Amino acid sequence: MPATYRAPVKDTQFVLKHVVGLDRHRNLPGFADATPDMVTAILEEGAKFVEGVLHPLNQVGDREGCTLHADGTVTTPTGFKEAYRQYVEGGWGTLMSPKEYGGQGLPHVLGSAFEEFQTSANMAFSMYPGLTMGAVSAIHVAGSDEQKAKYLPNMISGHWTGTMNLTEPHCGTDLGLIKTRAEPQADGSWKLTGTKIFISSGEHDMAENIIHLVLAKTPGAPDSVKGISLFIVPKFLVNEDGSLGARNSLSCGSIEHKMGIHGNSTCLMNYDSATGYLVGEEMKGLKAMFIMMNVARLGVGGQGLAQSEIAYQNAAAYAKDRLQGRALTGPKQPDQKADSLLVHPDVRRMLLDARAFNEGARALCLWAALQADLAHKAETPLEREAADDLLSLLTPVIKAYLTDEGYAHATNAQQVFGGHGYIQEWGMEQFVRDVRIAMIYEGANGVQALDLVGRKLAQNGGRGLRAFLQMVDGVIAEGRADARLMPHAEALADAKARLEQATFWLMQNGMANPDHAGAASTPYLRLMALVIFGYFWLVMAKASHEALADGAADFGREFYEAKLITARHFFERQLPDAHGLAAKAMAGADNLMALAADQF
Ligand SMILES: Cc1cc2nc3c(=O)[nH]c(=O)nc-3n(C[C@H](O)[C@H](O)[C@H](O)COP(=O)(O)OP(=O)(O)OC[C@H]3O[C@@H](n4cnc5c(N)ncnc54)[C@H](O)[C@@H]3O)c2cc1C
Repeated sequence: MPATYRAPVKDTQFVLKHVVGLDRHRNLPGFADATPDMVTAILEEGAKFVEGVLHPLNQVGDREGCTLHADGTVTTPTGFKEAYRQYVEGGWGTLMSPKEYGGQGLPHVLGSAFEEFQTSANMAFSMYPGLTMGAVSAIHVAGSDEQKAKYLPNMISGHWTGTMNLTEPHCGTDLGLIKTRAEPQADGSWKLTGTKIFISSGEHDMAENIIHLVLAKTPGAPDSVKGISLFIVPKFLVNEDGSLGARNSLSCGSIEHKMGIHGNSTCLMNYDSATGYLVGEEMKGLKAMFIMMNVARLGVGGQGLAQSEIAYQNAAAYAKDRLQGRALTGPKQPDQKADSLLVHPDVRRMLLDARAFNEGARALCLWAALQADLAHKAETPLEREAADDLLSLLTPVIKAYLTDEGYAHATNAQQVFGGHGYIQEWGMEQFVRDVRIAMIYEGANGVQALDLVGRKLAQNGGRGLRAFLQMVDGVIAEGRADARLMPHAEALADAKARLEQATFWLMQNGMANPDHAGAASTPYLRLMALVIFGYFWLVMAKASHEALADGAADFGREFYEAKLITARHFFERQLPDAHGLAAKAMAGADNLMALAADQF
């Protein structure tokens, strides 16, 4: 039986109401348009589109993959092109894009909710529009008015797609090693020459044009990250009147055969004196590309959630149906020869672990999208700065923790299927294969952890960290004042104390010996993630108690009661890991660095 998917519309609405508080931000541009009816329509229509159009192509895409032809063209799997046409016609790419270039200007929060649905339904497909959105952000922030007018409308409508070209054969994490060169031309354009590898959506048959954003070095630039510039390099040059002109001298040399996301073309791109246009200032390319990378990092974190969600849904359905063994406490289905898998506490452990992660991660992702909105649209500079601080601090945590855990829960969901999970037909092994890349690309997770401890903690004198800890203190104080929430609030206070202890240890030891900071980075990031999840679970538990006391008319009693059970699971069975993580973070680097190279 192939895997199925139902978009979690109700849970998303719960988060929008009780965590994000969409209604409280009506004063901001774009939020007034997001009326409750509009939000419901977008979520329900979005669910219909991804369930009916994208999800049925998920296994097809995995089986067929993309095909490179002798003339350098790439075709996507059966049905992708038609589905993309429907995506464009439905205006799905326009939701949160700026109005002045044809977007709807709605809050990022709504776009993010749709992105989760889309990515669960078909991760490989979702990457074509996903990368386009990142490229749109970079051009919108760093491009000239002329570039914005020329490229954004067609990218936002989806008629053209976008890519990001950083990686080269000898250079992945360390972008200072980039060899691609850009030579200035008399007319103000540039000629780019070099090879980029692993370029997602680099060549395909779904859109009329592909706008590549390419990092390269200009003559005389330092041979380090300081010498990198960013260029727009279109597949087809664009004429003054906006029509498509000559084919640019760039081509797809090969496509990768890889572990997952087969429906997304991963291309080796050759730039052979290709015409490009500088974005922003020369040698400030990495800063401009970071706009795209930050959007992409949040999107990749969302991939972890999305694959864990669809894997969980299928595992839960399977566990209900599959009869195997008897409950430890005696038969629960005496009319059958065996009980369902759901009677086994260890199966429930795997399901509830995934569920607590999914619902916590959804709250975190939508809240982060709100911070992105507030960072641009809040009324006062102080509010904009506060939102930017929090988002900047938590971006590496969202990218790394959500993908590490998304992979872990997808694997556990596969485990619930026993041997059948390992068999292609059920689709579970595809989720595991697809989501695995999310831990690697967009800055491998270890590099995210270094970004957190090496840069983000101390950024602006630690302003973001202080604001984050205050935010957590606020919700702990509220929890302590309510007897129903007291145990959860105490558990969170304890985890937060461990985080503060590890932070203090880092301040004392990380500067003196940077290897201590490197050795602490991953457990520290995971510890911070648990505290954030604790924050959201306390907020959600509080809202659930209040809604139940009020009659729970909106989502029903069963919904809120289940939320409280899942909250308790988080506080009793996930948050206690904070102690182990703090101990690991403070263990230091000495032993890690002790083996000599020839002993490995
Ligand atoms: C399917 C797929 C799609 C991709 N899509 C794109 C794309 O669209 N555009 C694009 O430009 N690239 C893309 N990439 C490339 C991807 O971003 C890189 O593979 C990734 O950044 C890691 O670089 P690398 O493979 O060279 O690994 P390396 O940089 O060699 O790193 C190897 C390992 O060492 C660790 N490491 C490296 N340096 C450090 C350090 N300083 N400190 C601590 N640990 C370190 C890393 O965490 C990693 O686990 C894609 C890759 C794949 C497989």
